[in-house]
Amino acid sequence: MSIILDKIKYVYMPRTPYEKVALNDVSFTIEEGEFVAIAGHTGSGKSTLMQQLNGLLQPFAGTVEVDGVNINKAKSKEAIAARRKIGMVFQYPEQQLFEETVYADIAFGPKNYGLTPEEIETRVKEAMDFVELDYSLYKDKSPFALSGGQMRRVAMAGIIALKPKYLVLDEPTAGLDPQMKRTILTKIKQLHTKEGTTIVMVSHNMDDIAELADKVAIMNQGNMKIFDKPEVVFNHRDIITQAGLLEPEVMQLMDTLKAAGVPISKIASTKEAAFKEILATLKRGGVD
Ligand code: ADP
Repeated sequence: MSIILDKIKYVYMPRTPYEKVALNDVSFTIEEGEFVAIAGHTGSGKSTLMQQLNGLLQPFAGTVEVDGVNINKAKSKEAIAARRKIGMVFQYPEQQLFEETVYADIAFGPKNYGLTPEEIETRVKEAMDFVELDYSLYKDKSPFALSGGQMRRVAMAGIIALKPKYLVLDEPTAGLDPQMKRTILTKIKQLHTKEGTTIVMVSHNMDDIAELADKVAIMNQGNMKIFDKPEVVFNHRDIITQAGLLEPEVMQLMDTLKAAGVPISKIASTKEAAFKEILATLKRGGVD
């Protein structure tokens, strides 16, 4: 099972002087169970691409298939069911909180799915538990009385309560302090490893991508320049530079060590891999 994008084209304000091709013949497949990162400079088409995944934007050409169903057939029952498999967490999702209580906000989606009150309560409890917000302490609070990080977690809980098979997140840690950023990324990783949720995460933080993703797509001016495993993508330094991105900091450090004469044989992109490589180099006696 998978999400397959085939030759997607999307144009803003077509046939006007402001026409902008935001996606140009983009094709790629997200396999069930993967953690996919989409990276690119501002304006490269990441958000437009993300909105193709649940049919929020209809492509001008090409198709999006979720588990074998074309989701662009707006009114078909199958297409609606397929679109429901996709949970979307937009940038700054806390800005979309609107209910009077945390409970009502998280329950909003499950209610729309026609679940019973008991089922909804269980979903809300589980989702709050997952994002580590104490149920009895927070359920009756106004979401607007919470801190920014807590509001972000409420917004995420609202999507998690829908139990999406595929979770798509646009810059989920934007604007958060480092500690909250780590908490959110840990939660996303847990959803992937423990719940088996397929994750598609838009990010321009290559360090996060190196640590988390199974596959990375690099967008540049509406084109998908490469889609492959991180170690393959990070070796295409020309593509990364042309896309206006930076390699992971760990890679930059390894480069610096190499340039200083440390005989590193493999350039690593994650802390763990760098640690192993530096240790191996030391064991080989390669450092004076
Ligand atoms: P990213 O998410 O990578 O920042 P976007 O998908 O938001 O990129 O934008 C891709 C291109 O489409 C950019 O050139 C942007 O200016 C343009 N664009 C995005 N949204 C709109 C819109 N609503 N109207 C017109 N142009 C848009």
